[in-house]
Amino acid sequence: MNGALRKKLQGYVGFANLPNQVHRKSVKKGFQFTVMVVGESGLGKSTLVNTLFNAPLYPSKDHVLLSEESPKTVGIQVLSTDIEENGVRLKLNVVDTPGFGDFINNEESWKPILETIEGRFDSYLEQENRVNRSKITDLRVNACLYFIAPTGHSLKALDIEFMKRLHKKVNLIPVIAKSDTLTHEEIAAFKERILLDIAHHDIKIYHAQHYDSDDIETINETKDVMSKIPFAIVGSDKIIETPDGRHVRGRKYPWGAIEVDNEEHCDFVKLRQMLVRTHMEELREFTNDIHYENYRTEKLLVLGYQQDNTVFREVDPLAKLEEERALHEAKLVKMEQDMKHVFQQKVQEKESKLTQSEQELYTKHKEMKDALEKQRLDLEEKKRRIEQGRPITPEKTKKKGFGFAGK
Ligand code: GDP
Repeated sequence: MNGALRKKLQGYVGFANLPNQVHRKSVKKGFQFTVMVVGESGLGKSTLVNTLFNAPLYPSKDHVLLSEESPKTVGIQVLSTDIEENGVRLKLNVVDTPGFGDFINNEESWKPILETIEGRFDSYLEQENRVNRSKITDLRVNACLYFIAPTGHSLKALDIEFMKRLHKKVNLIPVIAKSDTLTHEEIAAFKERILLDIAHHDIKIYHAQHYDSDDIETINETKDVMSKIPFAIVGSDKIIETPDGRHVRGRKYPWGAIEVDNEEHCDFVKLRQMLVRTHMEELREFTNDIHYENYRTEKLLVLGYQQDNTVFREVDPLAKLEEERALHEAKLVKMEQDMKHVFQQKVQEKESKLTQSEQELYTKHKEMKDALEKQRLDLEEKKRRIEQGRPITPEKTKKKGFGFAGK
């Protein structure tokens, strides 16, 4: 609204209460949030989800049957829970991706994950296009926590590949898993290298926004949260006793204790602040306004629509049909040419085989003819000797015998 046109009211009217109306309605409807966790097994994904929402959302993995066959591809497991805090209901969906990065060849590990994200966009698009849109189930993934193994080196090829494939489809939030295995200095250096890798590969991770209307404290808080990315996290749903006698969520070691909710120990608090307390709604907005909108536009363009500001203009169906027909004909011509080529090749092969066997037959025939001729000459020689009364030596007979009989 133009500031110059803004009118000052002379008394209380009441629309200042609009935010409260929105608030009441939202609380009544409840909220929905879908978070995806991706990373090699054992990096602490389920522990972190339980720690984030302070509830045993994931059943204990201690009872997994040993005889259970390990899957051959990346699977998709969804866990849905209704949680409530101070009268506000949240339907939380956690999409787990067991098997990611666990195989000898992880080249296409990202594929089933991308398909799941796109499949959820498709389902939303299909529901939006229905005549009755009063009950849309929104399963779109609002955030993807990507677990980086605490190697202390740099990102692995698989990490880069995954992020490159997914960054335009989902709000990517990289986290350093099990950061209690690294020292503070190692974490700082590791974070630096990860951010350099991300920038080098032009990967766009989620960036929490602050707005001009925010107070200075909120702006500083958001900046502080952003400075911690990639969050170095520690997960634990166990209560431990600290050396000074406090009972906190953490992990106990012979040399001391790591407290999950202590900002001096890890970035868990900052991650939870962004994901749950301050930017959950923004993550949902980004999903709808950026990732889904881009996907939807691309999809409709492929289907033959072009967006012209606000109006959808359909491409001429006759021209499209003609184009498809031309493409089909070109395909047929190509197929015919390929078939001709194969046929000619086969004929050539047959011809050369025939010529070869003809040659062999001719050689054989000639050999037999020569042998017979030799035999005839021998017999004539024998006859001449008999007529002249000369004896025929047995050796000579043997030598000049019909040697080709065995052939
Ligand atoms: P997932 O397979 O990625 O879901 O991993 P889990 O959450 O099942 O964790 C695997 C093992 O790592 C369990 O023994 C957890 O107790 C342990 N773990 C989870 N989070 C952490 C962490 O932050 N630090 C350490 N050191 N261990 C952790």
